[in-house]
Amino acid sequence: MVENPYLDVDKKIVSEIYTSSESMDNLKVLCDVYGSRFGGTPGDFASVKWMVEKLKGYGIENAHYETFKFPGWVRGPARLEVTSPIKREFDCISLPLGLAGEVEAKLVFLGDGPIDIYEKRKDEIEGNVVMVTSRTPLGMTRFLHRSEKYMRSILAGAKGWIFMNHYPAYGPPTGGISPVIPTVAVSYEDGSFLARLLEREKEVKVRITTTDRNREMTSYNVVCDIPGTSDDEEYVLSGSHYDGHDISQGAVDPASGTVTVLEMARVLNMVKDRLKRRIRLLCFGCEEIGLFGSYNYVAQHEDEMDDLRFMLNLDAAGGKGKKGVILHGHPELEPFIERAGKEMRAELPYFQRVSPYSDHWPFFLKGVPTGGGGDPEAIRTRTGRGYGHTRYDTVDKVELGYLRLAAANYSRLLLRAANADEWSARRKTQQEVKEFIEKQGYDQTVALAEKVKEYVRTWGEIHPDTKAWLERKSDW
Ligand SMILES: [Zn+2]
Repeated sequence: MVENPYLDVDKKIVSEIYTSSESMDNLKVLCDVYGSRFGGTPGDFASVKWMVEKLKGYGIENAHYETFKFPGWVRGPARLEVTSPIKREFDCISLPLGLAGEVEAKLVFLGDGPIDIYEKRKDEIEGNVVMVTSRTPLGMTRFLHRSEKYMRSILAGAKGWIFMNHYPAYGPPTGGISPVIPTVAVSYEDGSFLARLLEREKEVKVRITTTDRNREMTSYNVVCDIPGTSDDEEYVLSGSHYDGHDISQGAVDPASGTVTVLEMARVLNMVKDRLKRRIRLLCFGCEEIGLFGSYNYVAQHEDEMDDLRFMLNLDAAGGKGKKGVILHGHPELEPFIERAGKEMRAELPYFQRVSPYSDHWPFFLKGVPTGGGGDPEAIRTRTGRGYGHTRYDTVDKVELGYLRLAAANYSRLLLRAANADEWSARRKTQQEVKEFIEKQGYDQTVALAEKVKEYVRTWGEIHPDTKAWLERKSDW
């Protein structure tokens, strides 16, 4: 049996978490009172002020928020009609950061949209409206993100885009895109109807009308520190975004992670006399439409990255499943996780994989050692988001037991990361980061975004929102 040098601290942390319903109480307020907390909505700033006050109420006087500007978006009504050979209108929503526009053209259905299909069917796609599902195609070893399907469709000449849910009964899925061509999302049932119509009639014309507006807005990061007892400058950091999508409460993604961060702040502050180094806790704004909170945080705190031992991202970390760690290419940290799990007598499964789609990514690009909370097995086998990114990601999907497990595992893991006398992970150089990304194949995704920009610049007429997007430096 591995001896637990923090047994007394662990007992304090765990008993505090398991005799309180604080994280569930906070979740209900975040979601039921402040709504989606989508960047730029009234609930965004109101929830930020509430979180700062909560943290101060826990005795963390340094809690505050920091502001940043981001390319914001306001949803307008959207329409999807079949204009030939029948006339019929479908329920749909536009996708965040999409533009206002209208297009009428032939429908091309690409199923799950595997990466080689866009080039293969380019002749059909050219000038027409592409529909793909939200599912990662069978046989792919990585998650095929909506934005990649969208960009590949544009490069093949698509003039409109329909994103179809692959889960029944969850309505249309949402998710940020770029303002290039009119885009809507539909439910599994309506998408299936369109696919059957196309199969029967061979040629179907659709019209998409979107009325969204893009403009600069302000959002926030909530920041607080649990100070360490030594004067060592090194520190650890953990955070989760707090913004959901505008159509949703975003209860699992991200609020279950946000309240886990708040709960960790509460309990770690109670044992701060046993903390050697500082733990910084963060709730990021505007993750959903482009990681704007974390990109801005990293830019605003660039000089603090050298002393950052480890960044643990807890996006949606209080949902169902085991509370392990996904390390982003840091095998040297495995013995630390292994030992921590044994000391804590906790199940702490881990594996190595990195994706660019959450707030660890801006830190990762700066070479900071990063990881994320989650269930390795569930992530390895996942083919989509379920009710995530739909209006059905609501408070009733979250269970107190998982919120407690997340706070108990990750607060104790962070304590150990802050206290370890020897820390094997070090900051990667820019060259090492570049090589790592290339090895994972993500450089192709980066190149894809650049390719789309290059291609769009050749268009005769460019929508003002698209122009503004072209002028922004790449999201990567
Ligand atoms: Zn999230």
